[in-house]
Amino acid sequence: MEKVLASVKIGPSKLEMREFPMPEIDEESALMKMEVAGICGTDVKMFKQPLATGGPVIMGHENIGYIAKAGRKFCERKGVKEGDLVFVEHYVPCFKCEWCHKGEYRHCSATDWRSNPNGRRYGYTTSDNPYHLWGGFAQYTYLPWNAVVHKVPAGVTPELAGIVTPLSNGIEWALFDSQVGYASKVLIQGPGQQGLSQIVACKQAGADLIIVTGTTKDAKRLEIAKVLGADYVIDVQKEDPLARIMDITAGEGVDVSLDCTAGAGTIPVMLGVEALKRKGGTLLIQGEMTDFPNFPIGKITVKYITIKCARGHSYRSCELALQQLASHRFPLELVTTHTFGLNEAEYAIKSVGNEGAKDVIHVSLLPWK
Ligand SMILES: [Zn+2]
Ligand SMILES: [Zn+2]
Repeated sequence: MEKVLASVKIGPSKLEMREFPMPEIDEESALMKMEVAGICGTDVKMFKQPLATGGPVIMGHENIGYIAKAGRKFCERKGVKEGDLVFVEHYVPCFKCEWCHKGEYRHCSATDWRSNPNGRRYGYTTSDNPYHLWGGFAQYTYLPWNAVVHKVPAGVTPELAGIVTPLSNGIEWALFDSQVGYASKVLIQGPGQQGLSQIVACKQAGADLIIVTGTTKDAKRLEIAKVLGADYVIDVQKEDPLARIMDITAGEGVDVSLDCTAGAGTIPVMLGVEALKRKGGTLLIQGEMTDFPNFPIGKITVKYITIKCARGHSYRSCELALQQLASHRFPLELVTTHTFGLNEAEYAIKSVGNEGAKDVIHVSLLPWK
């Protein structure tokens, strides 16, 4: 019987190469030959944590590949055929609830591995489940009838398509959640793959001021931020970011503050609250902290600030991200900096966490490299 090689997380910071049986594909399902599994800050955090559901996990939730084998009904339902290059969302939803009908699979309880032991999400669901191949760090990934598949447009390479997840998050958080649009003034905190993707989304939508913050080790990323359209970049270790933002905006502040720092805790929230305009700004947050001493609730209410929570992407933001990549309007190739093979998965994750290769922005794991 044919075997599929995968890198499997078997404990905190512990990966092992394992073989799985090639799944049987029926009328309703398909098999994707993996090309690129994108790695993000979430992988860095998840890698160190205990196994969330108890069983081993094939990591990899940002997956691009070719439809290698597909049942008749699967092809009919998804509008794909064997040989098509596709992006598969990591949510495997129920397709029955209201969230699913809106294309908001991220909120469907069938995808919530935290609260639902049968929840399906690529890169999170344990490989103990039937069909095993529930993650991108493998030669093949199993696609059931309810996988969410997007065709990658012609002219977009698998590696470029690998940044569709941060870019769709950028569109979701900046444009849909925070209403960035024509003439918006935006503060983006953190120049990683997520922050850089937000620049492109904001620029495309017509923002007329984009300020990006980073630290001294982000020097290279801040340079790329400028190439992608940032008007100003601030090294927060060299200058006072708030003073600089107020200087740039003539004391007016910004309309929107987006936290893309991946774990700087309360600092980006505090800076965002201060840097937003006098009344009515939007603060997009990523809550990693469990406690927030002296949370500035008074200032938030007085400044009439709206708080939005960063939470993945919708079907529409994925489609828009793919169109953006196909337009080649922005040199997003600058973001895809590193590729690694399956047996280098640990080093690849560490590199995203700044503990491996130098000057990393986006890392692609290529399971056939
Ligand atoms: Zn991710
Ligand atoms: Zn649902």
